[in-house]
Amino acid sequence: MGVAKRMRGSDQPTALRRRGLLLAIGAAALPAPALAQGAARPRLPLVVLDPGHGGRDPGAIGAAGTQEKQVTLALALDIRRALEGAGRCRVALTRSGDSFVPLKRRVDMAREREAALLLSIHADAAPREHAAQARGASVYTLSETASDPLAAALARRENLADRAGGLRLPSVSPEVQRILLSLMRQETRAGSERLARLAVNALDDDVPLLRQPLRRAGFVVLKAPDVPSALVECGFLSHPTDEAALRQPRHRARIANALTEAVHGFLGRRSLAARDDDARLG
Ligand SMILES: [Zn+2]
Repeated sequence: MGVAKRMRGSDQPTALRRRGLLLAIGAAALPAPALAQGAARPRLPLVVLDPGHGGRDPGAIGAAGTQEKQVTLALALDIRRALEGAGRCRVALTRSGDSFVPLKRRVDMAREREAALLLSIHADAAPREHAAQARGASVYTLSETASDPLAAALARRENLADRAGGLRLPSVSPEVQRILLSLMRQETRAGSERLARLAVNALDDDVPLLRQPLRRAGFVVLKAPDVPSALVECGFLSHPTDEAALRQPRHRARIANALTEAVHGFLGRRSLAARDDDARLG
């Protein structure tokens, strides 16, 4: 209780607080040299961008034939360019070409590389009876409750102690593991919500939004227990106006700039400090 409260009250960026939690776990489980390694100078935080679909999976297809997988890749490349231009983070893509990447692999890529956040990029399609009305961007976080048996099974697997955080905690009792992991999930969930709010606020200035743009659903790609994650539906390919806009580089640039602003807001002072450190040390 005391720990959770203190961490929530702090104004440090979520990722840094998460690192603190990992170190707290490590202090109980790891020998000293591992801790010393963990205290190396901070590197620029890694942002993982996830262009939805790809390869044999085209995603949604617009009335004019636009394929979601093409729009998401174009957007992700725009966002990467904007982020790299600002120099406050490193950027990795879950795919950089027209290839099929399983959802779980996308999550694993972010977890293995200890990403500060994962942003999954999609474009929506509404069922035919709503296609004329539904338009605008929206941002999803993971829903609290599993929406189907598959999601429930995934959640059970994720709950296995030695998977979460990629950590092995041999000398800690299962009960303590459970508490620490639940704290980590709580931190991650709070980070995901913050990221999604920042994205909606940034998009709101420049891009039409869906009514109630902050949404929740059980997307597999958002299920990392230790990487704050949000999924952006950048518009409806089933709406002719949105589809036409998503095909325009100028409109995509607006979305990319807004999401870059959101990512910078999320990374906060941590990324500025790391950038200055990098400049100083070489
Ligand atoms: Zn999609």
